[in-house]
Amino acid sequence: MPVPRNRLVIPALCVAALVALGCVAAPQTPSGQPQRPARTPITAASDRPDIDGTDTVEEFRADVEAARALAEEYWTKEFDSSGLTFQPVAELIPYAEEGEVACGGQALGLNNAAYCSAGDFIAYDIDWAFTAFRRVGDAFIFYLLGHEYAHAIQRRLRIQQQFTIEQELQADCMAGAYIGDLEKAGRLRLDDGDLEELAAGLDAVGDEPGQPWFAEGAHGTPKQRTRAFSNGYNRSLEPCNLS
Ligand SMILES: [Zn+2]
Repeated sequence: MPVPRNRLVIPALCVAALVALGCVAAPQTPSGQPQRPARTPITAASDRPDIDGTDTVEEFRADVEAARALAEEYWTKEFDSSGLTFQPVAELIPYAEEGEVACGGQALGLNNAAYCSAGDFIAYDIDWAFTAFRRVGDAFIFYLLGHEYAHAIQRRLRIQQQFTIEQELQADCMAGAYIGDLEKAGRLRLDDGDLEELAAGLDAVGDEPGQPWFAEGAHGTPKQRTRAFSNGYNRSLEPCNLS
């Protein structure tokens, strides 16, 4: 059953404070873990209808680009519907070593991804992201990019929650809305059980030591994150409280 899209309502009054840096915590050393067989096929419906069940570097790169392009398509429409002009993030930067990329003078650590408001870019540990992609599935990339892009949207809308965890759970809700709305619009295809696999996969990855992107203190418990994501996925942006 189609679900009506909720229009993004832009707050009339803006808070001056900006999100300095989303998702960054203390760098940790990655730990070798066995791979899980679970796959979560999710594809950009328009241009890549046949990709399913593989986990190559090429597919990873294609998913990253598709997730970015669809995020920009999604937010362009939402901003348009509110009479605003959307500006995409300046760059998407993969990195392989700790300190290779810095945000406002702070080095980005391993096992993480972040939106940096100082340079208006999203950066991610490519080895960590690729490992999670192979273990959790394609949906992880859309979730990751959707979440980090949501931090860029928060900055553009001048949304600053009182607590970091609220900022993070709102980004999870927005990531859910981005994936759910694109699926309802026929721009993204999820197979039955994909979301359950995504939740289970995120739980498994997040439980491992040395995973700043999943740090409960900063991002919420897996249950809180899953609930926030599901709210957005099922009900679009309305439960994300952007206004
Ligand atoms: Zn975040």
